Amino acid sequence: MSHGQRNPAPHGLSDLRASGDVDAHPGAFDPRAGRGVPTWLAASLNFCSRCGAALRLGPLPAEDRDRLGCDRCGHITYVNPRLVVTTLPVTDTGEVMLLRRGIEPGLGMWAQPGGFMEIDETVQEGAIRETLEETGLVVQPGAVVGLYTRPEAAIVVIAFEARIVGGTPTVTPEALEVRPFAPEAIPWPEIAFRTSLWAIRDWVRRVRPDLEPDIR
Ligand SMILES: [Zn+2]
Repeated sequence: MSHGQRNPAPHGLSDLRASGDVDAHPGAFDPRAGRGVPTWLAASLNFCSRCGAALRLGPLPAEDRDRLGCDRCGHITYVNPRLVVTTLPVTDTGEVMLLRRGIEPGLGMWAQPGGFMEIDETVQEGAIRETLEETGLVVQPGAVVGLYTRPEAAIVVIAFEARIVGGTPTVTPEALEVRPFAPEAIPWPEIAFRTSLWAIRDWVRRVRPDLEPDIR
């Protein structure tokens, strides 16, 4: 694949590695894949999606960093994160509904409902759809609790606080269990992802700042 033909020491990589930011995201900056592109994602970026010719990673006119370009048709393949839309569905009594994941990654661990935003919906529509699919709950998204970046997964996670306005908690292959947790009873060691930890932590800080969950 063309990624192997790039300069082995891209400008700025050592600087990025030296920063604490990168340490928090192991695997985010893999020189084999080109600066900033996770290896697993680079593996699916071999050919131009417009004409089918091989892609080449390198400098291009008017681009401020190396890009995957097509020498045959000139099309540039930009690699950007995808948005994961999630909600923290809150019950009338102030508890948050979490689900125990039935699929990898994070099988058996707890997380808030969510998934990839579709190309033809708004973030709120996506959050409502994913929450219904995974938990059986109908929610009304409210305030944004936070936005969280996971470069090694090439995703950005948005978390809405959401009011439960209908539906019934439903077990599905994706959710082995759906149940409410009080802010003081979050199963912190059993939360599936760092982005879920951060989102639930930030929600707890909103509703119960006195609890000060020790999560970074
Ligand atoms: Zn092309």
